[in-house]
Amino acid sequence: MELSAYKRCTNCDGEVTGDSDFCPHCGQITSEAISVFCARHPTAVAVAVCIICRQLVCRACALQKRGRWFCRDHAAVRVEQDWALVFESPDINDAELVKSILDSAGFHVVVRNFGPNTAVWEGGGDSLFSRQALNRLAKVFVPIPEYVEAERSCREWKDAGNV
Ligand SMILES: [Zn+2]
Ligand SMILES: [Zn+2]
Ligand SMILES: [Zn+2]
Repeated sequence: MELSAYKRCTNCDGEVTGDSDFCPHCGQITSEAISVFCARHPTAVAVAVCIICRQLVCRACALQKRGRWFCRDHAAVRVEQDWALVFESPDINDAELVKSILDSAGFHVVVRNFGPNTAVWEGGGDSLFSRQALNRLAKVFVPIPEYVEAERSCREWKDAGNV
């Protein structure tokens, strides 16, 4: 691929493909050539897309957290690198169950803790690591673009009385 196929995001310095209108890492709109408008305010120029739902947001609707843009609905979603948190629990078995449900639904799930100790739990309810990790929250992540669907599956499953 040629060098010109990529450009740098002016907000997060992430790599953006040349034909992309926004940065997939932070939601910054990278195309200056066109004006796009807020999904909720058709006359307000959009400054970014929500990295979770990809909806266009104007200055009034956009919330920036740790350099990334969110809509109001998704401002509370926790993201680490290119992953979004769909479920967490102090009970590793619950997290393991949610992981297997999302796995079988075709999502690309990781279970880990991005905490300062960067201990990575890759699953397995009764391993040495899982016993060491008992006092920490087991966190279930999916790639950011899969969050909306994965969160819905997870919620439907919880609403059915499973956790
Ligand atoms: Zn960016
Ligand atoms: Zn959103
Ligand atoms: Zn707006």
